[in-house]
Amino acid sequence: MSQQMLLQEMMDKFGFKKENLAAYLGVNGKILNSWFASSLSTEYTPMPNGVFNYISEFIEKNSLSGVYNLPLRNKISFFGKNHLLSVEQFDRDSIEEVFSIADLMVPIARRKKISRVLEGAVLGNLFFEASTRTRVSFGTAFCRLGGSVCDTTGFTFSSMAKGESIYDTSRVIAGYVDIMVVRHPDRGSVSEFARASNIPIINGGDGPGEHPSQALLDLYTIKNEFSRLNKSLDGAHISLIGDLKYGRTVHSLIKLLSLYKNLKISLVSPIGLEMPESIINYASRNGNIVSVESSVKKGLSGADVVYATRVQKERFESEFEFRYESDFHINSEKINAFCNKDTIIMHPLPRDSNVGSNDLSTDLNNDDRLAIFRQSDNGIPVRMAIFAILLGVENIVHRNLRDVEWSRPVYISFADAAFHNL
Ligand code: ASP
Repeated sequence: MSQQMLLQEMMDKFGFKKENLAAYLGVNGKILNSWFASSLSTEYTPMPNGVFNYISEFIEKNSLSGVYNLPLRNKISFFGKNHLLSVEQFDRDSIEEVFSIADLMVPIARRKKISRVLEGAVLGNLFFEASTRTRVSFGTAFCRLGGSVCDTTGFTFSSMAKGESIYDTSRVIAGYVDIMVVRHPDRGSVSEFARASNIPIINGGDGPGEHPSQALLDLYTIKNEFSRLNKSLDGAHISLIGDLKYGRTVHSLIKLLSLYKNLKISLVSPIGLEMPESIINYASRNGNIVSVESSVKKGLSGADVVYATRVQKERFESEFEFRYESDFHINSEKINAFCNKDTIIMHPLPRDSNVGSNDLSTDLNNDDRLAIFRQSDNGIPVRMAIFAILLGVENIVHRNLRDVEWSRPVYISFADAAFHNL
């Protein structure tokens, strides 16, 4: 068998992508490509015998047992590295795997069980932009798996204020900690951190770019809510409303949703804050219909999920740059008029509570269709799953559980309606 056929068999049988395979064999993409090249081409190099034999034995052994499963972090790797930078790293199967690991984490997140699988590991939480939920929930998730957290917040108190580059910051911190979560105001900046690091980097939000962990927890919430309501995601109607131009959560979410089939995705935004064309094109696959609606009424009508977002004022040059031309307030009057009894209302939070902000109203707080706190609670098991996967302990979590002995809160997570006696 030729080396090209052998490599192809390895990819086909075990689901390796080229970059995973290169990482698995410990070579860079260029070398792998030269092994794949035709022996007549100038690019071609012969594969060392040791590698050829190793792959042959791997195929033989694992085809017989039929149980070889590529570790999840290899399946979702970012060009062969264990980072989480974009939702484009996922397919439907890998998402399902992430969610079943998140399910395993729920008893820990709900303070019924204790795990120490990450004991000794240190997380570097580097937030160069405002954050409450993402920073605290990543930190909490890491602690709940037994690890410890080191934080830095804002530019002012970091050496970036002294002119330090992303490269130097990332190189230095990678020497101190085992995994990093980074938030930074520039699109693409977290990938720049990743290029300078030999430890896993998680994108906690790169300006108006992406927010992959938020999209995962949003999708996890939608799937959980749908299973409670006996609904299927394929074929559902999802409305994304608000600042779709700068909102990174909706950019990541719509890309993840596009892995599902026959969705109707309605986009409603104030003029000037529309979803970028390239993302609409990306999302319009698998028979999904993405339509830009001209009014809140049209966008909300018949939706299974209403996902509202805040206007990202921090992306504007001046505070006065943006004015609403119509009423974008999502409140109980509109939800009752245009939505169904089982519509789910979501928001990545924070809600902008300033007068005239036109954000999601608080008058829905006692409506159990409002899933925003169940959604933020889901950030913990999903982020625990992300850490466990990237650090390779997802298969041993269940072996390391102990019961909680301290007095824990009574109502946590999905039963949050109980807070309101509903
Ligand atoms: N917390 C989310 C984010 O960081 C949403 C928002 O800020 O509006 O992108």
